[in-house]
Amino acid sequence: MNEAEKLATLFEKFPGIGPRQARRFVYFLLKSGNEYRANLEQAVHDLTQNIHQCKDCQRYYASNGNNVCGLCDNTSRTSSQLLIIEKDADLDSIEKSEAYSGKYFVLGSGVKLTDDSGKVPRQAQLLSQIANQQELTEIIIAMPTTTEGEHTAQTLINTIRPLTDERNITITMLGRGLSTGAELEYADSATLKSALESRN
Ligand SMILES: [Zn+2]
Repeated sequence: MNEAEKLATLFEKFPGIGPRQARRFVYFLLKSGNEYRANLEQAVHDLTQNIHQCKDCQRYYASNGNNVCGLCDNTSRTSSQLLIIEKDADLDSIEKSEAYSGKYFVLGSGVKLTDDSGKVPRQAQLLSQIANQQELTEIIIAMPTTTEGEHTAQTLINTIRPLTDERNITITMLGRGLSTGAELEYADSATLKSALESRN
């Protein structure tokens, strides 16, 4: 395998990118010149150096010298609520709606329909986050309104039920407003706000 092929196999791992597109990326880089490639190398290097994963909510954040991100570190946010979402981008959308001021947990991905292991991504971290959040009274599940999103939500509920039953924590889901097939990431602030307010 030559260098170009090696790089193409790395691009193939990107979401939604097949072998042909991966090769197009490589040719693009070859044509782009030294300066562009140097900038890209630097940007990837800086990403490794400066972007960390929060040990509490698991989202990626620009390093601030702490183990946890600014949201988890913010004592004015309530610890009585924990909102579970699929992706970092969903968190950004909900923050923009200004309709929520509790804590978050980012799963990182959904549970595939073919996956019937009964496990959710980052399960150990999620369970320890719930255990550590002593004042917790409500867990809000905010998954996309897709078949996979529903499967993820159900798997989540089964996973956390023993803990929530034991500690009398209410589990709620986002309510009306989100159309079927909607990804939270693309929902506008007003829709998210209404979905949060009408959770049940
Ligand atoms: Zn965090």
